[in-house]
Amino acid sequence: MPHTPFLSVTNLAPTFPEPAFDQHEKKQWILARGQTVAVRPGRVPSVIWDADPASSGSCRKSPVYLGMMETVPCYATEHPAGAPLPAGAFLSGPRELFGKIPEQEVALAAYAIRILDYDRTTRFCGRCGMATRPLRSERAKLCTDCNRIIYPRISPAIIVLIKKGNEVLLARSPRFPEKIYSVIAGFVEPGENLEAAVHREVHEEVGIAVENIRYFGSEPWPFPDSLMLGFVADYAVGEITIDNHEIEDAGWFGRESLPSLPSHMSISRALIEAWRRGDI
Ligand SMILES: [Zn+2]
Repeated sequence: MPHTPFLSVTNLAPTFPEPAFDQHEKKQWILARGQTVAVRPGRVPSVIWDADPASSGSCRKSPVYLGMMETVPCYATEHPAGAPLPAGAFLSGPRELFGKIPEQEVALAAYAIRILDYDRTTRFCGRCGMATRPLRSERAKLCTDCNRIIYPRISPAIIVLIKKGNEVLLARSPRFPEKIYSVIAGFVEPGENLEAAVHREVHEEVGIAVENIRYFGSEPWPFPDSLMLGFVADYAVGEITIDNHEIEDAGWFGRESLPSLPSHMSISRALIEAWRRGDI
């Protein structure tokens, strides 16, 4: 069964060129403050606002175009600290909204925060220091002096479930919430392909070798900019030897003896559940 990503933005098309701001009277808004978004309360709370926040009394900075929701352009705007929120609204991080609002809106909220951060941190060229301007043809900026093109950064990371007979390898990082065990993960290094990243991370973190690596699925993880690439691999050889830095405990677990697992809203849990069902 293929992995169905839940943080992939599918209800918004980031089509370019961006429409002129006054081209569409109807617009939709995501109001962000740092790593949080303003949530509109209701029977089903929402992060999408129909009204221009400037006209509701809050102070709007430059809006950043996110894309088109069918025929309506959607913008993100940074809501300044201290400015009043729309009546009844509250601020929340996207992850805290899992299960409370539609998954597509969680993805949209995370995307808005990500794009606002990209916009904020690319106003000047990292090579020559001169100002940048948005390209019209795609989500990118162009240095007005040296012509360097700056795209939103995406950091690929591998995540791998390792099978050995009827057991899987699960490990605990000191960074995890208490008692939680998960599968092995780590960032891809420059010059490395994904298979090499799997071999290296597994060897570094738990000291074993794997074989028969196959693709499972992927998940954008925009906290802040990862793309998780999920794999399944078979144990090949070696004894578990933890590095004591990234990992504080690791072991082989059967279906009847699983420890506390990560949230359902994670590709790590999706991998473990697919194995538990016998799908992989
Ligand atoms: Zn430059």
